[in-house]
Amino acid sequence: MSVKTMEDLFVATLKDIYYAEKQILKALPGMVSKADNSELKKALETHRAETEGQVERLEKVFKLIKVPARGKKCDAIEGIIDEAKEHMDEIDDERVLDAGIISSAQAVEHYEICRYGTLVEWAKDLGHADAAKLLAENLKEEHHADTLLTEIARGSVNKTAEQAA
Ligand code: FE
Ligand code: FE
Ligand code: FE
Ligand code: ZN
Repeated sequence: MSVKTMEDLFVATLKDIYYAEKQILKALPGMVSKADNSELKKALETHRAETEGQVERLEKVFKLIKVPARGKKCDAIEGIIDEAKEHMDEIDDERVLDAGIISSAQAVEHYEICRYGTLVEWAKDLGHADAAKLLAENLKEEHHADTLLTEIARGSVNKTAEQAA
């Protein structure tokens, strides 16, 4: 698809995050099972369930703008997820692994926050108020997940990880 207008760019970016969310949905169970800290495990599992709802919201957005819900390969999320897997394979100590999982999960959240931040603004500008609302709900959940991960890192995981030798 060639991008000529802002509407085209909006749709292309929507397809990017739709693809990304589906990849994230596939990657999260592996991160949940590798996480050792119970708070971290729970936060990742909660966000995995939340992500299912995010995919549904995106499908509603596609419907609102009358475009078939189809993803477009996002190389950025593939790279972020590849790094996460690489970390999980190379870190032996489960305390250090937890800190690594948080950093990988936050890289994912930040990618999503940046995409949704843009999409919300463009949806508003293009007169898609209902779509903007749905996208803002996803953005809010990503922010919440990111903040919670920071709290878990600061609260226990990072200090515990520092004890690994
Ligand atoms: Fe998401
Ligand atoms: Fe992308
Ligand atoms: Fe997320
Ligand atoms: Zn952050």
